[in-house]
Amino acid sequence: AFNANVAAAQGALNAFIVTTPDKALDAARAVDADRAGGKALGKMAGVPIGMKDLFATKGVQTTAASHILEHFTPEYESTVSARLWQAGAGMLGKLNLDQFAMGSSNETSYFGNVVSPWRRAGGDNAPLAPGGSSGGSSAAIAARLCPAATGTDTGGSIRQPAAFTGTTGIKPTYGRCSRWGVVAFASSLDQAGPMARSVRDCAIMLEAMAGFDPKDSTSLDLPVPEWEAGLSANLAGKTVGIPREYRMDGMDAEVAAAWDQGVAWLKDAGAQIVDISLPHTKYALPTYYIIAPAEASSNLARYDGVRYGLRDLPDGANLQEMYAATRAAGFGDEVKRRILIGTYVLSAGFYDAYYTQAQKVRTLIARDFAEAFARCDVILAPTTPTAAFALGENTDDPLAMYLNDVFSVPASLAGLPAMSVPAGLNGQGLPLGLQLIGKPFDEQGVLDAGLAIE
Ligand code: GLN
Repeated sequence: AFNANVAAAQGALNAFIVTTPDKALDAARAVDADRAGGKALGKMAGVPIGMKDLFATKGVQTTAASHILEHFTPEYESTVSARLWQAGAGMLGKLNLDQFAMGSSNETSYFGNVVSPWRRAGGDNAPLAPGGSSGGSSAAIAARLCPAATGTDTGGSIRQPAAFTGTTGIKPTYGRCSRWGVVAFASSLDQAGPMARSVRDCAIMLEAMAGFDPKDSTSLDLPVPEWEAGLSANLAGKTVGIPREYRMDGMDAEVAAAWDQGVAWLKDAGAQIVDISLPHTKYALPTYYIIAPAEASSNLARYDGVRYGLRDLPDGANLQEMYAATRAAGFGDEVKRRILIGTYVLSAGFYDAYYTQAQKVRTLIARDFAEAFARCDVILAPTTPTAAFALGENTDDPLAMYLNDVFSVPASLAGLPAMSVPAGLNGQGLPLGLQLIGKPFDEQGVLDAGLAIE
């Protein structure tokens, strides 16, 4: 049934880059075989999931939604996807995304944008952005094409698309999920996580995805807690912090109202509410948009036409000309913009002024959180400043697009677990998301507070 829905919706939503119906069926059949053989079933036995096309999948095209990797078929499997197959999940296909996960609307994909299944009530019927970069994942879950999907979050790419589509997604503590076999964007920020329709489903899937991996040097060598078994929406004895700096001028009134509603729900669940301060919040966005492009420019240097994917070799071209032609043809505009910003902030003349400074501010942002968590267990804030915008609305204005990440990048810079849960609809009938940010390694605290809101 899921395979049929995926095929039927592809024309309207463009959520998938490639479909793998046989793999989903194989996982379903394995459940029957294991049951018949009396074998214990894995945590995700038979569950058909979508795989963001940033995870290397052995024998299945892995494109990062780029032209340069359009025909790249890995001979290896990412650790996270391998764990999911190990737990019994089956793959419906590879999900569309922003090219190299750079974007907030899915419009930078080489394979065309994803369309959200949502529309404004009584409105213009304008197609809306599903968020980004995990917009194929969010749209597919919202349209019921899959019960769950993988996402990755560098500066908000799990949380913002979840907020835009009324779905749930958690970015765990940096290092919980192995980055091995995930196409790299900004390695000190990249983190995989689950997206699904409920907090419980996210807890189940995160248990399957997480765990130490010696192949990733930043992987956390910690046991994976039983988050699902530990779920509790009773917040008695817990303190929730409300960061005053997130109440920004010009904040959408309906987003502010949803935030107040979230506070009320958490109080009802027994939590105590305190006002907290994260004084360096206003520097988070510029800091992120220095560090992420800097790391991206370094990571993307590997796509040179020699080792991977596309090679553009004009007649008589020398090596330099081959590099240039390949990269000119293979990277989209947003990816080129990031590489240019990144190489600029890393260049000898500007390194200290931009990159070193950004690293210092990153430490201050992390310190803000550490001080706030001396007074509270979890932080509640909006996920995004607005509900989903229309496709095309911000395309020509990269700064307007980057502003969308204002509430999601601080937790990324600090490496903290953070989740978006649906918190009702705005006046136009579009979903709004609330964000829960936790202490390092305290995914349980984040999931519990999310459950109280859900
Ligand atoms: N929207 C942010 C960016 O464009 C975050 C992307 C992400 O988390 N992968 O960088």
